[in-house]
Amino acid sequence: MELPNIPYKVSHRDVRYPRLEFRTGELLLVLPYGYKPDPILNKHQKWIRKKMALVEECLKHSTSKKMVERTEQDFRDLTFILAKKTLTELGGRLNHIYFRMMRTKWASLSSRRNLTINRLMRHLPDHLLSYVIFHEVVHLKEKRHNDKFWKRISKKFDDYQELEKDLFVYWFQVVKRIQ
Ligand SMILES: [Zn+2]
Repeated sequence: MELPNIPYKVSHRDVRYPRLEFRTGELLLVLPYGYKPDPILNKHQKWIRKKMALVEECLKHSTSKKMVERTEQDFRDLTFILAKKTLTELGGRLNHIYFRMMRTKWASLSSRRNLTINRLMRHLPDHLLSYVIFHEVVHLKEKRHNDKFWKRISKKFDDYQELEKDLFVYWFQVVKRIQ
Protein backbone atom coordinates (compact mmCIF):
# COMPACT_ATOMS: atom_id res chain seq x y z
CA MET A 1 0.00 0.00 0.00
CA GLU A 2 1.81 3.11 -1.22
CA LEU A 3 -0.72 5.81 -0.54
CA PRO A 4 0.19 6.77 3.00
CA ASN A 5 -1.60 10.11 3.23
CA ILE A 6 -4.78 9.30 1.49
CA PRO A 7 -7.71 8.39 3.68
CA TYR A 8 -10.34 6.19 2.15
CA LYS A 9 -13.41 4.27 3.04
CA VAL A 10 -14.36 0.84 1.85
CA SER A 11 -17.87 -0.26 1.10
CA HIS A 12 -18.50 -3.87 0.16
CA ARG A 13 -21.57 -4.17 -2.01
CA ASP A 14 -23.26 -6.50 -4.38
CA VAL A 15 -21.33 -5.24 -7.42
CA ARG A 16 -19.52 -7.17 -10.11
CA TYR A 17 -16.49 -4.91 -10.46
CA PRO A 18 -14.59 -2.73 -8.01
CA ARG A 19 -14.82 1.01 -8.53
CA LEU A 20 -13.52 4.22 -7.08
CA GLU A 21 -15.73 7.15 -6.22
CA PHE A 22 -14.72 10.65 -5.31
CA ARG A 23 -18.06 12.34 -5.18
CA THR A 24 -17.86 13.73 -1.69
CA GLY A 25 -14.20 14.67 -1.89
CA GLU A 26 -13.36 11.58 0.07
CA LEU A 27 -12.12 8.45 -1.62
CA LEU A 28 -14.62 5.62 -1.48
CA LEU A 29 -13.81 2.14 -2.70
CA VAL A 30 -16.85 0.19 -3.72
CA LEU A 31 -15.81 -3.43 -3.79
CA PRO A 32 -17.48 -6.75 -4.50
CA TYR A 33 -17.75 -8.93 -1.40
CA GLY A 34 -14.48 -10.58 -0.46
CA TYR A 35 -12.41 -8.15 -2.52
CA LYS A 36 -9.36 -6.51 -0.91
CA PRO A 37 -8.67 -2.78 -1.42
CA ASP A 38 -4.95 -2.97 -2.20
CA PRO A 39 -5.01 -4.16 -5.82
CA ILE A 40 -7.38 -1.42 -6.96
CA LEU A 41 -5.56 1.26 -4.96
CA ASN A 42 -2.25 0.29 -6.50
CA LYS A 43 -3.67 0.04 -9.99
CA HIS A 44 -5.22 3.50 -9.88
CA GLN A 45 -2.59 5.34 -7.88
CA LYS A 46 -2.03 7.97 -10.54
CA TRP A 47 -5.72 8.75 -10.89
CA ILE A 48 -6.15 8.88 -7.11
CA ARG A 49 -3.28 11.31 -6.70
CA LYS A 50 -4.64 13.54 -9.43
CA LYS A 51 -8.05 13.59 -7.76
CA MET A 52 -6.55 14.27 -4.37
CA ALA A 53 -4.66 17.26 -5.77
CA LEU A 54 -7.94 18.56 -7.15
CA VAL A 55 -9.65 18.09 -3.79
CA GLU A 56 -6.90 20.01 -2.05
CA GLU A 57 -7.11 22.83 -4.55
CA CYS A 58 -10.89 22.93 -4.15
CA LEU A 59 -10.62 23.09 -0.39
CA LYS A 60 -8.31 26.06 -0.70
CA HIS A 61 -10.76 27.89 -2.94
CA SER A 62 -13.95 26.81 -1.27
CA THR A 63 -14.15 29.75 1.09
CA SER A 64 -14.00 32.16 -1.85
CA LYS A 65 -17.24 30.82 -3.32
CA LYS A 66 -20.30 32.64 -2.20
CA MET A 67 -23.30 30.61 -1.28
CA VAL A 68 -26.61 31.79 -2.62
CA GLU A 69 -29.44 32.19 -0.15
CA ARG A 70 -32.78 31.57 -1.85
CA THR A 71 -36.00 30.64 -0.23
CA GLU A 72 -37.06 27.05 -0.70
CA GLN A 73 -39.94 28.26 -2.85
CA ASP A 74 -37.75 30.43 -5.09
CA PHE A 75 -35.39 27.52 -5.49
CA ARG A 76 -38.14 25.14 -6.53
CA ASP A 77 -39.71 27.64 -8.89
CA LEU A 78 -36.37 28.31 -10.54
CA THR A 79 -35.68 24.59 -10.86
CA PHE A 80 -38.99 24.00 -12.61
CA ILE A 81 -38.45 26.95 -14.94
CA LEU A 82 -34.95 25.75 -15.87
CA ALA A 83 -36.07 22.16 -16.33
CA LYS A 84 -38.92 23.25 -18.60
CA LYS A 85 -36.61 25.47 -20.62
CA THR A 86 -34.04 22.70 -20.99
CA LEU A 87 -36.64 20.14 -22.05
CA THR A 88 -37.90 22.56 -24.69
CA GLU A 89 -34.35 23.04 -25.93
CA LEU A 90 -33.29 19.41 -25.96
CA GLY A 91 -36.55 17.54 -26.32
CA GLY A 92 -37.59 14.66 -24.09
CA ARG A 93 -39.72 14.60 -21.01
CA LEU A 94 -39.49 13.99 -17.30
CA ASN A 95 -42.06 12.26 -15.14
CA HIS A 96 -41.38 13.96 -11.85
CA ILE A 97 -38.93 16.23 -10.20
CA TYR A 98 -38.15 15.30 -6.62
CA PHE A 99 -36.26 17.34 -4.08
CA ARG A 100 -34.21 15.45 -1.54
CA MET A 101 -31.27 15.98 0.73
CA MET A 102 -28.42 13.91 -0.71
CA ARG A 103 -24.93 13.42 0.60
CA THR A 104 -23.11 12.21 -2.48
CA LYS A 105 -24.48 13.98 -5.53
CA TRP A 106 -26.12 17.13 -6.79
CA ALA A 107 -28.77 15.41 -8.84
CA SER A 108 -29.70 12.15 -10.45
CA LEU A 109 -31.93 10.82 -13.16
CA SER A 110 -33.67 7.48 -12.81
CA SER A 111 -34.50 5.09 -15.61
CA ARG A 112 -38.13 6.07 -15.00
CA ARG A 113 -37.27 9.62 -16.02
CA ASN A 114 -37.55 11.01 -12.55
CA LEU A 115 -35.16 13.79 -11.79
CA THR A 116 -34.01 14.06 -8.20
CA ILE A 117 -32.51 17.36 -7.18
CA ASN A 118 -30.39 17.72 -4.10
CA ARG A 119 -31.98 20.32 -1.85
CA LEU A 120 -28.50 21.68 -1.21
CA MET A 121 -28.58 23.06 -4.76
CA ARG A 122 -30.61 25.87 -3.24
CA HIS A 123 -27.25 27.49 -2.49
CA LEU A 124 -25.79 27.29 -5.98
CA PRO A 125 -25.63 30.29 -8.28
CA ASP A 126 -28.11 30.32 -11.18
CA HIS A 127 -25.63 29.28 -13.85
CA LEU A 128 -24.56 26.18 -11.92
CA LEU A 129 -28.13 25.24 -11.19
CA SER A 130 -28.79 25.62 -14.87
CA TYR A 131 -25.78 23.48 -15.76
CA VAL A 132 -26.70 20.62 -13.39
CA ILE A 133 -30.23 20.49 -14.78
CA PHE A 134 -28.96 20.56 -18.36
CA HIS A 135 -26.48 17.80 -17.51
CA GLU A 136 -29.21 15.57 -16.11
CA VAL A 137 -31.57 16.20 -19.01
CA VAL A 138 -28.79 15.24 -21.45
CA HIS A 139 -28.70 11.92 -19.57
CA LEU A 140 -32.18 11.24 -20.96
CA LYS A 141 -30.38 10.71 -24.27
CA GLU A 142 -26.93 9.58 -23.19
CA LYS A 143 -26.81 7.54 -20.02
CA ARG A 144 -23.05 7.49 -19.67
CA HIS A 145 -20.41 10.17 -19.52
CA ASN A 146 -19.01 9.23 -22.91
CA ASP A 147 -17.72 11.44 -25.73
CA LYS A 148 -21.20 11.82 -27.19
CA PHE A 149 -22.49 13.00 -23.84
CA TRP A 150 -19.80 15.68 -23.37
CA LYS A 151 -20.23 16.79 -26.97
CA ARG A 152 -23.89 17.54 -26.31
CA ILE A 153 -22.98 19.30 -23.10
CA SER A 154 -20.31 21.44 -24.73
CA LYS A 155 -22.75 22.72 -27.33
CA LYS A 156 -24.32 24.79 -24.60
CA PHE A 157 -21.64 24.85 -21.92
CA ASP A 158 -18.26 24.87 -23.61
CA ASP A 159 -16.73 25.69 -20.22
CA TYR A 160 -18.26 22.61 -18.62
CA GLN A 161 -14.93 21.45 -17.19
CA GLU A 162 -14.67 24.68 -15.29
CA LEU A 163 -18.27 24.32 -14.12
CA GLU A 164 -17.69 20.77 -12.93
CA LYS A 165 -14.75 22.05 -10.92
CA ASP A 166 -16.83 24.89 -9.47
CA LEU A 167 -19.48 22.37 -8.44
CA PHE A 168 -16.83 20.42 -6.64
CA VAL A 169 -15.69 23.56 -4.82
CA TYR A 170 -19.26 24.45 -3.88
CA TRP A 171 -19.77 20.96 -2.60
CA PHE A 172 -17.21 21.54 0.14
CA GLN A 173 -18.94 24.73 1.14
CA VAL A 174 -22.42 23.32 1.07
CA VAL A 175 -21.78 20.08 2.95
CA LYS A 176 -20.65 22.11 5.93
CA ARG A 177 -24.33 22.96 6.33
CA ILE A 178 -25.30 19.37 6.92
CA GLN A 179 -22.36 18.22 9.03
ZN1 LIG B 1 -23.84 12.80 -15.23
